[in-house]
Amino acid sequence: MAVPRPVRKVPFFDWAALFREHRDDYVRIFAETADRGGFILQRDVEEFETALRGVTGSRHAVALADCTNAMSLGLRALGIGPGDEVLIPSHTFLATAQAVVYAGATPVPVDIDARNLMDAAATEAAITPRARALMPVQVNGTTADMDALGDVARRHGLALVEDSAQALGATYKGRQAGTFGAWGAFSFYPSKTLGGFGDAGALVTDDDEIAAGVRAMRNHGSGVDKVIPADTTVWGTNSRIDNIHAAILAYKLTRHYDADIARRRAIAARYDSALADIEEVARPAAPGADPERFDVFQNYEIETRRRDALRAHLAEDGIGTILQWGGTAIHQFRGLGFTQTPPRADAFFRRCLLLPMNHLLSDDDVDHVGASVRRFFGRPA
Ligand SMILES: *Cc1c(COP(=O)(O)O)cnc(C)c1O
Repeated sequence: MAVPRPVRKVPFFDWAALFREHRDDYVRIFAETADRGGFILQRDVEEFETALRGVTGSRHAVALADCTNAMSLGLRALGIGPGDEVLIPSHTFLATAQAVVYAGATPVPVDIDARNLMDAAATEAAITPRARALMPVQVNGTTADMDALGDVARRHGLALVEDSAQALGATYKGRQAGTFGAWGAFSFYPSKTLGGFGDAGALVTDDDEIAAGVRAMRNHGSGVDKVIPADTTVWGTNSRIDNIHAAILAYKLTRHYDADIARRRAIAARYDSALADIEEVARPAAPGADPERFDVFQNYEIETRRRDALRAHLAEDGIGTILQWGGTAIHQFRGLGFTQTPPRADAFFRRCLLLPMNHLLSDDDVDHVGASVRRFFGRPA
């Protein structure tokens, strides 16, 4: 009689564990903030923005309701709107394209490079007279070839802006993700590297006008005196971050973020050595392997031709995996009007798989995943 293997469960993400981790501190922060009525745009938002400026070195940080809104408001602050095109990689979340559409402009997805990020040559080839901006996406917490993309933007007189939703604290040649162009945007969705207890985001910029514009638009178009100027010409909206949430995020960022990123990098190194001799699997550069980059490992994404079978095998071993963004590239949303056919992005989306990656995983969890992948490919334990 077949004896079922004991199954160790490694969920892709343990949502409740995120709160359990520093529960007493979170409850205390909630009580302290609520006790003084700190619900909307109080000092906690400023403290969080100060902490974000500390990480990125930007002159301004504007905390917002989420990253999608941050990008949309950032594009509007640059005067980008109807008739304009914004180039984005096809390997990203649909939110990147949505932000462009909600600013009134048209997203143009382009192909990816050997590291699966926005490709500079494909970007340049997609530029039309209507192009206004490039928006690289720092997918998985690693940075695109920002030298080459910056060069394309400069030569064509286009703005460069960054979807850094997944990359707070990542660097390229010593420079922080989010600081390469006019602005960068971050997400604090619970499963992001700086995970909140709901939605939140931020925009960073060195440009005083962009900062003032986004700050006003997040609060219905209010000026510095917190009222809407009678002669306003700007349609604002409500994109405020919740103040209690800002207090919690400020605590997480200042007290725990560095250790959480160090833990993600240690997990990536552990995966790297478990998978190193499996040539059927392509894996991201190990932490420290690329001297130009400090990666924060929002995700650990592998590629393999036998992706679907591997995924089923891991599930039998109690391991949760994800096809990022449901396994659909931007240009593959044909119902939204896309007609592009970027070949490398098409190939990538047939092969990609996210293994569990977050700072709450134990070494035993990671070893269980590594051993299961090794068994699938017939490698010794
Ligand atoms: C999470 C994510 C977003 C959206 O962020 P929200 O805060 O949920 O709006 C946008 N782009 C990328 C690459 C993301 O990973």
